[in-house]
Amino acid sequence: VWKNCLAFIQDNIQPQAFKTWFEPIKPIKLAENVLSIEVPSKFFYEWLEEHYVKLLKVALTKELGEQAKLVYIIKMENTYGNREPFTERIPSANRGQVSPQEMDVPIKSKNPELKNPFVIPGIRNIKIESQLNPNYSFDNFLEGDSNRLARSAGLAVANKPGGTSFNPLLIFGGVGLGKTHLAHAIGIEIKDKYPERTVLYISAEKFTQQYIESVKKNTRNDFIHFYQLIDVLIIDDVQFFSGKSGTQDVFFHIFNHLHQNGKQVILTSDKAPVDMQDIEQRLLSRFKWGLSAELQSPDYETRISILKNKLYRDGVEMPDEIVEYVAKHIKTNIRELEGAIISLIAQSSFNKKEVTLDLARQVVEKFVKNTKREVSIDYIQKVVSDYFEMDVATLQSKTRKRHIVQARQLAMFFAKKFTKASLASIGSQIGKRDHATVLHACKTVDNLAETDKQFRKYIEDLTKKFS
Ligand code: ADP
Ligand code: MG
Repeated sequence: VWKNCLAFIQDNIQPQAFKTWFEPIKPIKLAENVLSIEVPSKFFYEWLEEHYVKLLKVALTKELGEQAKLVYIIKMENTYGNREPFTERIPSANRGQVSPQEMDVPIKSKNPELKNPFVIPGIRNIKIESQLNPNYSFDNFLEGDSNRLARSAGLAVANKPGGTSFNPLLIFGGVGLGKTHLAHAIGIEIKDKYPERTVLYISAEKFTQQYIESVKKNTRNDFIHFYQLIDVLIIDDVQFFSGKSGTQDVFFHIFNHLHQNGKQVILTSDKAPVDMQDIEQRLLSRFKWGLSAELQSPDYETRISILKNKLYRDGVEMPDEIVEYVAKHIKTNIRELEGAIISLIAQSSFNKKEVTLDLARQVVEKFVKNTKREVSIDYIQKVVSDYFEMDVATLQSKTRKRHIVQARQLAMFFAKKFTKASLASIGSQIGKRDHATVLHACKTVDNLAETDKQFRKYIEDLTKKFS
């Protein structure tokens, strides 16, 4: 039957097209009027569907009559949308929700009668698992001044994916401030409102790995086509793309395709677009097409409500005094805030004792200590130049303008104070100076701190930023 079909098809299309699209097909089985054929990839299937479905129908009807049906079997390569669902922490109770089978087969038919990778033409029933973590919903994302703009932009996008000027929507902010959570929340909301749309959440790191693999396996086109099928693409931590020109290039193409077709793109990053380094200009300018919304550190009230909500959801009671203590001392990272409270709950249930303020103090202290990051000289230069509203290159330049010299000396002073770097190494990193210059800078700063009130204020402000 298939041979006859092929003969018919061959007569009706260009030889090259026949060679490309029909020779690789393998007939698998014929049961009554249903012919199953195997195609090498999903992209292949999509292509046949799009370009040759009529031809196939005619050929098949000629052979098998009006009732003829065709079933595609996609040779699975199990490359894209690959499982390993959430990189974030998931309570173990939820882990079971993703069955091993789903884990392995990203594309599957919704038709329960057919076995896994079967797809019937004419019905576009390819299913891509969204990889969304149900815990990261809008309901669980508490609103505060620090996240109001980003949150409402997210809701607007969720209401009309691809239909707002927020495309792409870029959510940026420091570690543990809720970027991943908000990105999932938008995806979940869209899936809820528009179940038929294909939503995919993926970390930039995973995307990069898939891309590299596709290059290795010579399936770069399949990779691109896979992503072009998606209606709502969420890529987390795009700062990971920095310096990776191949990945940026392929993402650029995918982005353009999606954007032109009114599909929604949602990105997160730990930096604002202006501060992203080693990202191609053309990509950065795309990022700016939409909206960049910042997540800031939560204020005290928001921290309290996040903690209370967490306790409430876990069914744990804790004295207000303790909650307030934790909220007061952990200020800049919601993940740490939650971590501290989880650790308190764990310790109290393990030792079977009440959570006392004393225990809270110990836990918080440990958290704050463990997570204190080493400041780098780069970071110091960045913070100091931001503070004086100049760029790092200016700070490092040879100029002798007074305010620039002062900024440079402050950067050296803080590098000496907050890093273990030697004077020589500090000098070489801050505009290629020698160790004597750095020493002189430190002395000057010390002197000015004693005599100059304005200067003392600079030191105080900046010190706060580093501790
Ligand atoms: P990021 O991706 O910015 O590093 P995450 O999205 O992973 O941060 O958030 C860290 C933790 O804080 C997560 O457990 C998340 O659920 C929680 N979280 C962040 N923002 C909020 C919020 N507004 N309300 C409740 N929980 C939040
Ligand atoms: Mg994250």
